Amino acid sequence: MALLPDHLLAGHDAFMSGRYAAEEARYRALAREGQAPETMVIACCDSRAAPEIIFDSAPGELFVVRNVANLVPPFGPNDDYHGTSAAIEFAVVGLKVKNILILGHGRCGGIKAALTEGGDPLSPADFIGRWMSLVDEPARGVAAIADLTATERQTALERISIRYSINNLRSFPYVAEREAAGELAIHGAWFDISTGELWAMDPVSGDFQRPNVDAERAA
Ligand SMILES: [Zn+2]
Repeated sequence: MALLPDHLLAGHDAFMSGRYAAEEARYRALAREGQAPETMVIACCDSRAAPEIIFDSAPGELFVVRNVANLVPPFGPNDDYHGTSAAIEFAVVGLKVKNILILGHGRCGGIKAALTEGGDPLSPADFIGRWMSLVDEPARGVAAIADLTATERQTALERISIRYSINNLRSFPYVAEREAAGELAIHGAWFDISTGELWAMDPVSGDFQRPNVDAERAA
């Protein structure tokens, strides 16, 4: 059996001769001096919504945590294992990032699962159901609007859940402190997989707009 799948080995070969060769000095400096990313991104595991690709980012630029449906749980220290919360703690307390972006996306399988009737979110053997119960309340609200199509429902919950996660993010005391001190900005965005467009959340209204496209139209 191969040690690694062929496509990974081929991809790493291409990385060594391409990107690593071009950015070797940067990689060596990052190794020597450590990382100091200014921006944390909380994104979905979905293979089509990789933040480093979407933002064309350089090594050392983004501190990324990915989980199912890019959710932030409320601050709740206890004996459970909190992977996402640990990453937030390190980014804010350790790295002192200046920005945190919650990056949602279209056609999200996790959000679809949250909207699927008949699932038992509290089943102890079901990690996804339990995890997605973080957005149970808006999922029920969206599901109750009979006039919405399945697609409209999905997009609505994808965007509402970003606002939910932002609220939960602010329940972390050090996040709230740094934001109040003007040292940390919190952002939301939604990525359209099929068109590549990025919709940014207005921090006041919570509406999503395309910063590049919509600004051009208004000008
Ligand atoms: Zn997703």
